[in-house]
Amino acid sequence: MPESVLSFDPSPIPDTFPVMENERIINPGQREDDDNRALRPSSLDEFIGQEQIKQTLRICMEAAKQRGQAVDHVLLSGPPGLGKTTLAHIIKQEMEVGLKTTSGPTIERKDDLAALLTDLQNGDVLFIDEIHRLNRIVEECLYPAMEDYFIDILIGEGPHAKSIRLELPHFSLIGATTRTGLLTGPLRDRFGIHLRVEFYQPEEILQILKRSAKLMKVSCEPGGLEALATRSRGTPRIANRLLRRVRDYAQVRADGCVTEPVTIEACELLGVDRQGLDPMDRQILSAIVEKFDGGPVGIKTIAAALGEDEGTLEEVYEPYLLQIGFLQRTPNGRVATRRAYEHLGLKAKNPADVQEGLFD
Ligand code: ADP
Repeated sequence: MPESVLSFDPSPIPDTFPVMENERIINPGQREDDDNRALRPSSLDEFIGQEQIKQTLRICMEAAKQRGQAVDHVLLSGPPGLGKTTLAHIIKQEMEVGLKTTSGPTIERKDDLAALLTDLQNGDVLFIDEIHRLNRIVEECLYPAMEDYFIDILIGEGPHAKSIRLELPHFSLIGATTRTGLLTGPLRDRFGIHLRVEFYQPEEILQILKRSAKLMKVSCEPGGLEALATRSRGTPRIANRLLRRVRDYAQVRADGCVTEPVTIEACELLGVDRQGLDPMDRQILSAIVEKFDGGPVGIKTIAAALGEDEGTLEEVYEPYLLQIGFLQRTPNGRVATRRAYEHLGLKAKNPADVQEGLFD
């Protein structure tokens, strides 16, 4: 019988309790999510890259502070993992106000929105992630709330129903979206500040990795982090995720230090190639090349061929493939470029038909 059963202690187990293991205290209540929060920059000075966005925000926040007003509504757009949520937290921090966080699909009814808005204080930030997924009724209630700080709600039912107007505090709405194209014109127009987060340069990702490695107390060599930076698809979330996996690999298969060979081996094991493409990216490109002769092919057809959701392909995978010039969007559909063929080591049936990439 295992020892743990023999020494069973019936007293309730606390959520987190330290355990000694190999002379080190580990805390089973601490998950990697906790690391995630610890890695999130809490001020604009700590936030690496996106210089134009930082400059705009610094000016807007300083001006709002001088006038004693809430900062104007901010719309943050761009692919996932580039720092939109982080920026919302930074605005809250720098404006020294409260923050409520929610997401488009969770606000199902007008009442949910009213409850959220009436719970805010003057100057507070309401952060709505995936704002393009708000339903139409909720979205229309948001218009007067954003513009004139009121919301009309219905009390009672049937002929006795009465509409009452609730005055709202002067709040700042921060909306984040991976799909600006799906936002309606009236909603987009009500945001005073539009900011588009872009993919990061490898040097910026390297800086982010250095900061994260220091916070996570990972021992590493410059070559290890440089190899990781070029494999992180210009995306801080991916960079931090890969750093954790390479740290694990270094711990178990090497002496704990993230060196260049360790990074390369760990990434190979994860299926991440030297361009940062993962198995799904390569499947998308291979499907276009092998099943559809390099394209043009519609996104719906690619999604069906791979059994993947069309929205996920558009939001998560396509932006980076477009950015590095492996894929082109044409009116007739997606086309794999010469760079993609070269990267996959594939030959076109008719080389004259292959599109040149953005950077060729
Ligand atoms: P999004 O909301 O765009 O999906 P997040 O704001 O959640 O992205 O960012 C993902 C993670 O990447 C954060 O936890 C943060 O640690 C890190 N991160 C994002 N942008 C930066 C940056 N500019 N500098 C340092 N770390 C960043």
